[in-house]
Order: sequence, then C-alpha cells, then structure tokens
Amino acid sequence: MTETFYVTTPIYYVNDVPHIGHVYTTVAADIVARYKRLMGYDVFFLTGTDEHGRKVEKTAEQAGEKPLELANRVVKRFQDLWVKFSISHDDFIRTTEGRHKKVAQALFSRAKDKGDIYLGRYEDWYCTPCETFWTQNQLNDDMCPDCGRGVEKLKEDSYFFRMSHYQDTLLQHIKENPDFIQPKVRKNEMLSFIKDGLRDLSVSRTSFSWGIPVPDDPGHVIYVWIDALTNYLSGAGYLSDPDKFARYWPADVHLIGKDILRHHSIYWPTFLMSLGIPLFKKVFAHGWWTIEGKKMSKSLGNFVEPLQLTEEYGVDQVRYFLMREVPFGLDADFSRKAMVGRINSDLANDLGNLFNRSLVMATKYFGGTVPARGKVNDTLQRTADDVFQRVDLAMDDLAYQKALIAIWELIGAVNKYIDETAPFTLAKDESKGDELRTVIYNILDTLRVITLFIFPFMPDTGRKMWAALGIKEPIESQDLSRSYQWGSLPEEAELTKIPPLFPRID
Ligand SMILES: [Zn+2]
Repeated sequence: MTETFYVTTPIYYVNDVPHIGHVYTTVAADIVARYKRLMGYDVFFLTGTDEHGRKVEKTAEQAGEKPLELANRVVKRFQDLWVKFSISHDDFIRTTEGRHKKVAQALFSRAKDKGDIYLGRYEDWYCTPCETFWTQNQLNDDMCPDCGRGVEKLKEDSYFFRMSHYQDTLLQHIKENPDFIQPKVRKNEMLSFIKDGLRDLSVSRTSFSWGIPVPDDPGHVIYVWIDALTNYLSGAGYLSDPDKFARYWPADVHLIGKDILRHHSIYWPTFLMSLGIPLFKKVFAHGWWTIEGKKMSKSLGNFVEPLQLTEEYGVDQVRYFLMREVPFGLDADFSRKAMVGRINSDLANDLGNLFNRSLVMATKYFGGTVPARGKVNDTLQRTADDVFQRVDLAMDDLAYQKALIAIWELIGAVNKYIDETAPFTLAKDESKGDELRTVIYNILDTLRVITLFIFPFMPDTGRKMWAALGIKEPIESQDLSRSYQWGSLPEEAELTKIPPLFPRID
C-alpha cells in the first residue's frame, strides 16, 4: 500500500491581511508536499481559513457588512495568493462550511457527554486581536504577552474543557515522542508551560454570536480556537468521508508559526486525548520574519505585500529566498539586499548560467538533441547519491536550508565537471568525439537530476527546465527515489534553448 503523508498549514484568520508570514508557512508546506509526492507518497495537503470570532464580527460591523461577506472577500485574497505562489494544496477548508461546523459541534458534544466539558463561570483578561485569554500573571505590564496590546476583563458563563485532567498524559506523550514538538527550543518552552500547571480551558463564549453554536445551548458559541483546531479533522473527511479520514489521519505534521504553538501543542492534543482520537505525529513551529531588522507592522509602515514581492523578484525567487536564508524554525530577517544577493549568486550565477551554457553547448555540438549515453561519471554519480540521501533526511526534518545547500553542491559539481572536462576544447579535436558526447550527456543528465531536486522548491522553474531538456513525461510523475540515478535522460530528446532562468538584478 502507498504510504500517505498529511501536512497542514494553520487556517488563516480572515481578519488578517495576507503577509509574508502566511506565505512562509504555506510555501514550506507546499515544498514538503511536493517533495513527498515526488517520493511516491499519497499526499494530502490542507490549508484554509478561520472565519469566526469576536474580532471578525467587530470588523464586519464597522465596515457595515455581514461577517460572512467579509470572510468571502478575504478568503478570495488568500486563495488568489496561493495560486500566485504555486501552492499545490489538495483542499481548502473554511470554518463557515457545513462539513466543518458539524464536526466542531459533534466533538464538543462528545467531550461534554464524556464529562470533559462542563458549565462554569469565566473571569479573565482577554486579548481581542489574539482571541486569547490570559491570567493576571501571564500579562506583560498589564498588556497581552503575545502582541503587546491592551486586554479587557471578561466575565461570563462559559463551558470549560478539563484540560488539567490531561496534563500528565500530555507530558508523558511528549517524553515518549521526542519529535512531537519541534524545534527543540520551542518544545522546552511548552514543557515548562505545562509543568507550571494546566488550567481548564474556557471553550465557549456568550459575549458575541459569530461562531458555531454550542449544541443544545445556542446562547454559547464554541471558542474560536477549539473551532479552528478541529479543521484538521473536518478537512480530512472526519464524519463525511471515513475512508479518506482513515487513510490520512493522524496528520504527519502541522506547520505553524511560533505564536500559536501553545494552542497546537497543548489545547489540541489534550482535546484529541479526550475524544479518543489518535494524536498528530508532529507540530513544527517556525520563527518570525523581521523586515530590514524591524518587526513588521502596519503602524511601522514596513509591511511587505507578498504580491508586490513576486512582481519585483519573481515567485520562485521569493520561495527560494524564504527557505534558503535561515534554518526553518529560527527567526529571520528579510532584507532587499540579502534577497538580491541570493538571486544573483545562487540562482542567476550558479544554477541559471550552468543551465543555459549547457544547453548552448549541446545545441552547438549536437544540433540540439541529447547525445548517446557514454560512461557514467563516478564523481557526479557519487555526489548525486550523497545529495539524495542528505535531501531526504533534511526533508524529514523540515530542514529546507540544509536540503538546498546539498542540492547546490551537485550544481557546483557539474560546474566543476565542465571546467575539468573542457568540452569546448574537446569540440576542437575530431578524435575526441566520443568523449565529448559522454561529457555532454553527463552534464545534461545531471541537470535532469538537479531539476527534480529543485522542483518542490521552485515548481515553475523546474517545469521550464524539464521542458527545455525535452523530457516528455511530466515532472510530477517522476519517482525521485529512483530517477536521481544516472542515465534516465532519453537519448535524442530534443532540447530547447530558453531565456535566462533568473535575470540578474542590479
Ligand atoms: Zn494579543
């Protein structure tokens, strides 16, 4: 049976404007999804939108529209952005959809029937922008510890989830599954949070109505985080497509930003424990992007509009930069200087020039068709073997930067091979015809392997290179676990010269 791989992004809040952080998580999920597909996995990649909550209700009211109208507008912005960024998600779940609401309600009822959800009274500090409650001693100078904004005291009847009951089971689970929360530094933060003692979690609100009603008590709506987290089940077919759900659940990895790790590594697993649903395998929290050294914010005026970035630099260039600049998991800084540096050196020089000059040579010496296979070059093949092993390990660890560094070693190896074999000199000597054929074939065949490796990171570029190499089968249908080996480039495939893949930027 084919192995499955289920990867998610958070569902994005429709009160937000799409920004580089959303792009970062979604591109990361897309790359691992594409990589696993290329490795023969049956992949399910889910993204979507979180559409309920007090903040959405307020914003819609201010704009004189219904919350769902606001949601529809913003959802379209996210969906258009994902088309632009070549995101290959298999489904897009909206929390306002019937298939989601029925799951959120059913799970709430199940936990309630079990006695894990009970009615009580709530009084605490609430940060509306974050939709999060805080206790007095979690506050930072009386402000929200996450976003630094003001909080307000809320007092209301509320249902509570007996999260405290699962504290020890959760600690045990984290201990037995060292990869459950990544990276490690974040895991340690969560461990100390849990060890401080878990309180029961308020899981309903009566102060606003834009949400999923609590079953049998419609004066309450389900807390947005409980609502949102259950998307990972409803989006995978829970209660609507049991075969699909059985195939993909538990999720292999939830990719998130570090600001929502507590919700994903504490609320979510304890809720699943209560429901008797197996836990996801891993949650990975990546870092934040600053812009030119400063925190990105609308008030600072340094907001980076993702669409504008793609117009300035190109989609694949942005995807590459985000993954190459820092190890996934650490905070990173976006600067135009660093971006231009990466494009000119890694993409235009190393990869782009190599590809173009190889095609120029093949066209000049062999009339634009792939010459006959000669003898494999051991150094190139050994490098490809090694790179494949390293990329595969790196992708399992979501170490995108490591994977790219390895791939660039193969690019470097081909550049070196050209320098050492000097095809332009061989071409001048008629007695060296066989040698020239072998060298050009090996260069082109290694370019084929490089194309496969970079395809998950830069899908448009990968497709262009693939087409230029004259290979008829779609690149998506390749099995990377075999085809990184020498010799699959068909002899006599027709090459096409193409414009530079990555124009230099001054
Ligand atoms: Zn806040």
